[in-house]
Amino acid sequence: MPTRRWFWPVVGVALALVAFDVVEARYVFAPLLGLFIWRVGIASLGSLRRGAAYVPDGPPEPVDPRDERITYWCGGCGAELLLLVRGAAVPPRHCGERMTERHEVARQSLP
Ligand SMILES: [Zn+2]
Repeated sequence: MPTRRWFWPVVGVALALVAFDVVEARYVFAPLLGLFIWRVGIASLGSLRRGAAYVPDGPPEPVDPRDERITYWCGGCGAELLLLVRGAAVPPRHCGERMTERHEVARQSLP
């Protein structure tokens, strides 16, 4: 992008003009501050647009509760969930916090 290539040299020239009292400082720093606020706003909006990094890429995988019981426990209210279909690797949230994951491996029946 050509504006990026010219940005820092233009800033340097502007600071030199301020240093040698050719231009008042406010005419240089006010646009720079405005540009900085603009860039921060665009960057934060971009992170909102990308968002949802926790949404998985692949399809959900069914979990057989006869082989392995995966439960999630909420430390806030005590609710407990049994996982039947795994959609993401991260535990779900409840009461605003991540739930605690617990694996229970089914006991093998003796022959
Ligand atoms: Zn809860």
